[in-house]
Amino acid sequence: MEEERLQKYIARCGISSRRKAEDLILTGCVKVNGIVVTELGTKINPEKDVVLVDNKKISETEGFIYIKLYKPEGYVTTVKDQFGRKTVIDLVDITERIYPIGRLDYNTSGLLLLTNDGDLANKLMHPKYHIYKTYIAEVEGRMSDEAVMRLKSGVKIEDYKTAPAIVNIVKISSNSSIVQVSIYEGKNRQVRKMLDAVGHPVRTLKRISFGKINLGDLKPGAWVHLNEEEIKFLK
Ligand code: URA
Repeated sequence: MEEERLQKYIARCGISSRRKAEDLILTGCVKVNGIVVTELGTKINPEKDVVLVDNKKISETEGFIYIKLYKPEGYVTTVKDQFGRKTVIDLVDITERIYPIGRLDYNTSGLLLLTNDGDLANKLMHPKYHIYKTYIAEVEGRMSDEAVMRLKSGVKIEDYKTAPAIVNIVKISSNSSIVQVSIYEGKNRQVRKMLDAVGHPVRTLKRISFGKINLGDLKPGAWVHLNEEEIKFLK
């Protein structure tokens, strides 16, 4: 990893603004590998050097919050709702301001990530990162091989052709099917529209993973902080 200016690293760790980090350095609050550094031009290697602020080791995930929530149906994925509906923020009882990474529809349940790390949230929402999100859908009708093939090769929804999806049938019965669909795009109501387009309207939809982050054994409405490995995957 490249060297980085100390004040930039401190800011990136969420400790303070870059300007405030300069003050911390100048006033002797910062140590690098055990030695007080007051020189603003100092560069460090974030992978090797140990940086202490007020004698506390800092890290790139400090100051930021990363949460996974099992969103139940019947919640909006916004911070506030103009119609007074319950929002996912109501479910997370912490004082810091956080916001959702992307969206799940009001009637979709499952894995939702929340953070106060705006740069990361913007990065993750960009389709160029090709992060697959996996959904389990219960749909109307007995799903045919042809419908699966169409989903796999991309279907036309409105004026847009979707990128190929990864599709696996979980269960088929005479008048409904359960199907697992992974996509990396994030158009509005995309999975519902794709399944509609191949003749299988969605009854229920649940997201079970976001890249390497899984819903695991979370219960509806419950949340936990991501572990180091999960945070590393996002970065
Ligand atoms: N696709 C949908 O149709 N709905 C969601 O909530 C997420 C993906």
